Amino acid sequence: MANEEKSKDAKSRTRNILPGTHFHRIRRTVQSICFLIFVLLPLFDVMRVDLPRQRFFFFGAELYINEFAIVFLTMMFLWILVAAGAMIYGRFWCGYLCPQMIFSEAADGLEKRINRMVNRKFSNLGPGARRALSVALFSAVLLPGSIFVTFVFVSYFVPPVDLFHRLLTIDMRTAAGITGASVTLVTVLDFAFLRTRFCTAICPYGYLQNMLADKHTLLVHFQPDSGKCILCEKCVRACPMGIDIRRSSHQLECTHCAECIDACSEVLGKMGRGSMIHYAWGDAEQSSSGPDPWYRRIGLRDGKRVAILCMLLIYATGLSVAINLRQAVMVRVMPDRITLYTRGADGLIHNRFRILASNRGKTETKVTFSLADMPAGRIVGMDEGISLKPGETLQREFDIAADAAQINPGINHMTIVAHVAPSQKDDVFAETFITPMESAPATAPVGKQQ
Ligand code: SF4
Ligand code: SF4
Repeated sequence: MANEEKSKDAKSRTRNILPGTHFHRIRRTVQSICFLIFVLLPLFDVMRVDLPRQRFFFFGAELYINEFAIVFLTMMFLWILVAAGAMIYGRFWCGYLCPQMIFSEAADGLEKRINRMVNRKFSNLGPGARRALSVALFSAVLLPGSIFVTFVFVSYFVPPVDLFHRLLTIDMRTAAGITGASVTLVTVLDFAFLRTRFCTAICPYGYLQNMLADKHTLLVHFQPDSGKCILCEKCVRACPMGIDIRRSSHQLECTHCAECIDACSEVLGKMGRGSMIHYAWGDAEQSSSGPDPWYRRIGLRDGKRVAILCMLLIYATGLSVAINLRQAVMVRVMPDRITLYTRGADGLIHNRFRILASNRGKTETKVTFSLADMPAGRIVGMDEGISLKPGETLQREFDIAADAAQINPGINHMTIVAHVAPSQKDDVFAETFITPMESAPATAPVGKQQ
């Protein structure tokens, strides 16, 4: 009766556990897709913090670093995405998506394959010579591989075309060239010596994950009550991190990659039994009497998770609204108050203004300026407006001139309108025009200041 209860309890506890014992295959498929995404994102300007041009490419939007609101929303969105992912799905990122893990495992696999090939084909050589040959062959693949990985990685910060030119000219004089060479060296050393040791010795994500996890976070769990362990140690040998999951599900080294689940399934499957290691939603996962509803099966197991997903949704909505509302052409008009006013050769009072205009769109654009609310005034030196190529930023100066006799002495309010073509949008700037408190004769010398 007690045994029956125990097996019923074990059955009940495994009901919510993710199905399947082919995690290795699933992981390789997901990792291949991630590798493609990792390579394609910067090459097609989908995502890049473009340091030389101070831009931020984010899924088709070309944001300027000074577009603070959008950059802030993007950063918050990404940060909450990471926090929500870590809280609900544990170290899914480490085991399935992280480039460091993908390349470390690829380097491990390649090294083993080369060793096997050399041992098979050069069995007539001594162990030292075979080892040297293996190292030479591995290095011959590692070096170009590391250059390629570094190229993709640096493309997240520098446009790939610029980078390619620097690579062709073996640029070692500029800061970008030296940075590229240093990152290549670090990458070679990483994949030659560190690999998965990086995850436990350097990467802060593992520590962060431990802070964000709670009693419902997805983890890989050894369940002694799901049968008797035959102590074959296959799970330990299969673990890329070299740990024993039977000791604890909360070891810092465990990336929840599920290789141990496959290993145990394989060995116990031959005896007609299921794996003793499973994915579980927390250590003490308990199932309700019936099947779990869909939201529990995807990890939404308490209000905290729903709250963080709502927050993610709010930031995603805010970000998409901000991106859709952003203007492709940014115009700023500022008065130059170093000189309050000057008296021109034309006898009119002049106030100087500065314009900063940026075309953040993909088509050439023209900005023209007009004056409103001050009929006696006119714009001088900006008749043609300014033309901006895509990505171009210009600074210009112009004067507004008015006959002091026709306006108020002191401060006059007016509006400068910047008309942007072809979007036909107007930017309006409320400004002031300053004249002497007492009107001077129209023949006064040029440049007189007060
Ligand atoms: S213990 Fe299992 S899940 Fe954890 S890293 Fe090792 S193989 Fe992966
Ligand atoms: S593979 Fe399974 S049966 Fe073998 S030692 Fe690991 S947990 Fe026990």
